[in-house]
Amino acid sequence: MIEFPAVEPGEDIRVSASSFVSFCECPERAAAHFRGVYSPDTRASFSGGLAHRVFARHLDRGEISPAQFEQACREEIGSSNLNYKVATLGLKPSALGRVIEEVGLLYERFKRLPDEGYEASEVSFEFEPAAGVTLVGRIDAVFDEDSGAKLVDWKTGALGEVELQLGFYAMLWAFEKGELPGAVEAISVATGERYCEVPTRTGVQETARRVSTMINSLRRSWQRGSEMERRGGPWCSYCPVLDGCQEGTAAVDVAG
Ligand code: SF4
Repeated sequence: MIEFPAVEPGEDIRVSASSFVSFCECPERAAAHFRGVYSPDTRASFSGGLAHRVFARHLDRGEISPAQFEQACREEIGSSNLNYKVATLGLKPSALGRVIEEVGLLYERFKRLPDEGYEASEVSFEFEPAAGVTLVGRIDAVFDEDSGAKLVDWKTGALGEVELQLGFYAMLWAFEKGELPGAVEAISVATGERYCEVPTRTGVQETARRVSTMINSLRRSWQRGSEMERRGGPWCSYCPVLDGCQEGTAAVDVAG
């Protein structure tokens, strides 16, 4: 039902929602990602990752009692790549205890969200629309609603700009399932903000067009050994190549 536009041949590429969003914000930042230059792990990303594991555990295995909460967190850390991050972040037991407390506060809010129609959490997709091109994504949760599948992404901080990310998930779902999802929604468990939209065929086709443009641009730059366009913005603060980037430094200076 949705056509992925023809792309120029080139190096193999795996496009995720985060690399697509990164490219739309600043192509050179996405190029850095594909060169394997990433932002370092942060305490906030660790805490967010643990919260997502706890949310998925709640939906799959039922409510976690206060008495079991710390042990449940430690099990989730031990059985995932969060264990590795404890070491890279240098989290001491006392600091880890504070993270678990913070996640506990988020969990109290999360429990108040309705879970009717819940079908699955952490649903991974991998789709190859063309030779050497793989589109990947992991959707936090899928709910079955009258209008069709609702894809939900939870945020543990402010909601932020989520349209591109949700559009990417809607496109992945459409390619995998051969139909549009009924809705895509982002919910900030921290602030209560929500953003929901009903994907359209036109919108999903436009996302596919933008993804194909990204692939062609990156492949051309790799072939020529050239850099991509740099676009300064609020995202520069978290960019791994901020040092030495004039556009990024100017953007960070303006933001104060
Ligand atoms: S610092 Fe900003 S402008 Fe420079 S590459 Fe990174 S995101 Fe782009």
